[in-house]
Amino acid sequence: MAQSKNSRTSSATQKFFCSSCGGEVKMKTLFEKGKVKNVAECEKCKRLERRPSDFK
Ligand SMILES: [Zn+2]
Repeated sequence: MAQSKNSRTSSATQKFFCSSCGGEVKMKTLFEKGKVKNVAECEKCKRLERRPSDFK
């Protein structure tokens, strides 16, 4: 029988990690030309991507 344990927390917040340095990717809000823009930034190397999934 397979384990029926469901200990994993399925929260909406998913963590992403930078593929180049292993740092944690955090969402950041920028204001550009009067528009709010959400970008993903690596805490460690300050790499910026449009989406956290782009760090793969
Ligand atoms: Zn990084």
